[in-house]
Amino acid sequence: MRSCPVTDDGLTAVPLPDLSLLRRCWSAYDDPSTTHRVTVRSIEIGGPRRVVIAGPCAVESFDQTLGVARAVAEAGGQLLRGGAYKPRTNPHSFQGLGDEGLEILAEVRRLTGLGIVTEVMDPRLVEQVASSADMLQIGSRSMQNFPLLTEVGRTTVPVLLKRGWSATLEEWLCAAEYIARQGNRNIVLCERGVRATCHWEYADSVLDLNVIKPLRRATPLPIIVDPSHSTHDWTLVAPMSRAACAAGAHGLLVEVVESGADRSGLRCDAHRGVPPETLAEIMSTARERDSSAV
Ligand code: PEP
Ligand code: MN
Repeated sequence: MRSCPVTDDGLTAVPLPDLSLLRRCWSAYDDPSTTHRVTVRSIEIGGPRRVVIAGPCAVESFDQTLGVARAVAEAGGQLLRGGAYKPRTNPHSFQGLGDEGLEILAEVRRLTGLGIVTEVMDPRLVEQVASSADMLQIGSRSMQNFPLLTEVGRTTVPVLLKRGWSATLEEWLCAAEYIARQGNRNIVLCERGVRATCHWEYADSVLDLNVIKPLRRATPLPIIVDPSHSTHDWTLVAPMSRAACAAGAHGLLVEVVESGADRSGLRCDAHRGVPPETLAEIMSTARERDSSAV
């Protein structure tokens, strides 16, 4: 346990982790004390505007992906998310459409103009996934897949690095450094919830919004929050989005379903996606926070 130093006013200050090793890497950024802006198909993450990346959990069909993408664009979402390769805990669950999913994403990008954020799980597929993606997502389960981190670090494609669900802040930043030391410094961190006693009792995990402040102090990397996976309940996504923006997140990653979607027919995270009208509400929260100091 680190001890808590006592401040001048007699209160106990929260200790910050010793990140001196990591500063070696961050010092290569132009100015490590200001947020590094990561541009994804002309959308800047880390600037004054909150960026909302939204879309289906998984690419399940062309029509579903295009339908959700149009709803995202209409609500003002800036980038489209959607998994072609899905990391599923249960090997019997739907694993994603793979290559066919990538083709669908590329076509939907062509039709809507939205940049694509999609997950890569296999170091051998980095180049292939990157050909249909504007940002590569490293999922929670892959945060410490070091060959994968190294491989995405060799590309110039922006990376969305999700926190492993039991990773400390330091472990998470070490994962980021695996990417950065290969030359790719376009990294955005994503808090998605950490495992706690609630696991499968009433939620998936606890959204750790406490981490935003120390992270913002410790690194120049932008940080966004995924309120969809921790809550496991779409009705909680809008309030959690408000909390994340208030806590200083640079953006959000939100799962969306089509208007009037038959959730029972969805093959992945059927209860997590917000309907388009809730996404519109989340967008106005994000816009309200645009100019506020974080
Ligand atoms: C996802 O974003 O699709 C996902 C699987 O999330 P996580 O890796 O955070 O579980
Ligand atoms: Mn999901």
